[in-house]
Amino acid sequence: MSECVFCKIVNKEIPADIVYEDDLILAFKDIAPQAKVHVLIIPKEHIPNNLYLEGRHKPVVGHIILKVNEIAKQLGIAETGFRLIVNSGKDSGQEVYHLHWHLLGGEPLGRLICK
Ligand code: AMP
Ligand code: ZN
Repeated sequence: MSECVFCKIVNKEIPADIVYEDDLILAFKDIAPQAKVHVLIIPKEHIPNNLYLEGRHKPVVGHIILKVNEIAKQLGIAETGFRLIVNSGKDSGQEVYHLHWHLLGGEPLGRLICK
C-alpha cells in the first residue's frame, strides 16, 4: 500500500472529484482550489516530480499535455484561457510528491508568481 495521497486516489482508496480518467492518467478537482476552476492532472504511475521523468515517460507526458485541452473544453475554460503549473521541489512549494499539473482558470489569474 502506498502512503502517497495521489496514489491512494488512483487506487480509489480515498475519494476525489474525478473529471477525467483513462489507463494512463487521472484528473480531479483540487481539494483547496486556488481559482474558480482548479483541477490536478496526474500520471497514474508514481513519479515524485518533474526531476524524476525519464525517456520512457515521454508518451504519458505528451498525453497529459494534449488531454489538458479536452479537459479545459469540458470545464468551459478553453476559450477564456487557463494556466498550467508544475511545481517541482522545495523552492516551488511542492507539497505532494506525486507529479501533477495544476490546471487553473475560470477567472483572470493575475501575474505568474507572487511572493
Ligand atoms: P503542490 O503544492 O504543487 O504539491 O500541490 C498539491 C495540491 O494538491 C494542492 O493544491 C492541494 O490542495 C492538493 N491536494 C492535496 N490533497 C488532495 C486531495 N486529497 N484531493 C485533491 N487535492 C488535493
Ligand atoms: Zn503517488
